[in-house]
Amino acid sequence: MIKENLIKILDEIPPNVKLIAISKTKSVKEILEAYYQGQRLFGENKIQEMNEKYNLLPKDIKWHMVGHVQSNKIKYMAPYVDMIHGIDSFKSLAIINKEGGKNNRIIKCLLQLKISRESTKFGLTFKQIEEIIKSDEYQNLTHVKVCGIMAMASFTNNIKVIKNEFDSTNDLFEKIKKTNTDFNVLSMGMSNDYKLAINCGSNMVRIGSLIFGSRNY
Ligand SMILES: *Cc1c(COP(=O)(O)O)cnc(C)c1O
Repeated sequence: MIKENLIKILDEIPPNVKLIAISKTKSVKEILEAYYQGQRLFGENKIQEMNEKYNLLPKDIKWHMVGHVQSNKIKYMAPYVDMIHGIDSFKSLAIINKEGGKNNRIIKCLLQLKISRESTKFGLTFKQIEEIIKSDEYQNLTHVKVCGIMAMASFTNNIKVIKNEFDSTNDLFEKIKKTNTDFNVLSMGMSNDYKLAINCGSNMVRIGSLIFGSRNY
């Protein structure tokens, strides 16, 4: 079914929208099924799990870290990670910069905006994101590049609430983009809300269960 699911989703999203197949908890065999269908972008939310899969799977896969990043584990993914989505502090950026330097890389990152009402979701406020981007401290980092924003909508069936959150995220994205040439990724939309997210300006969707089936944690 993975193959059919993938074909269906790729058929529905416009060519300018990148699909990150979120493979957390899924096996190497399942990931390979998507890989043989042409999928190359995969996302995980735990560094150790991503490392294990990175070691076992073809090296042309681009790995995205979409979970909350723990500072002490950044060094383990710094040699290969393609993009880190969930940055919610300047401190994390500084550590990624240091590890990027050690690996002679510029690591792409997204700042996570806290738009949802849930107190459990991580993230920065609109103001904090603008402040970080403009700060000299950030400008001086040479081995990390913030290329956009990541956001997760509230856990609700109320489409209006979700649309509002996506719209305001896109507003902030477009505003920063005007003065920042590095800014080109808006990562929002998951299995349940990716169509709405794309309509609201998303150009990167993170889809797990719709491709691989539901997860049993
Ligand atoms: C698990 C996860 C997803 C994918 O969720 P689905 O509802 O299975 O599509 C997307 N983004 C993040 C940050 C996740 O942790």
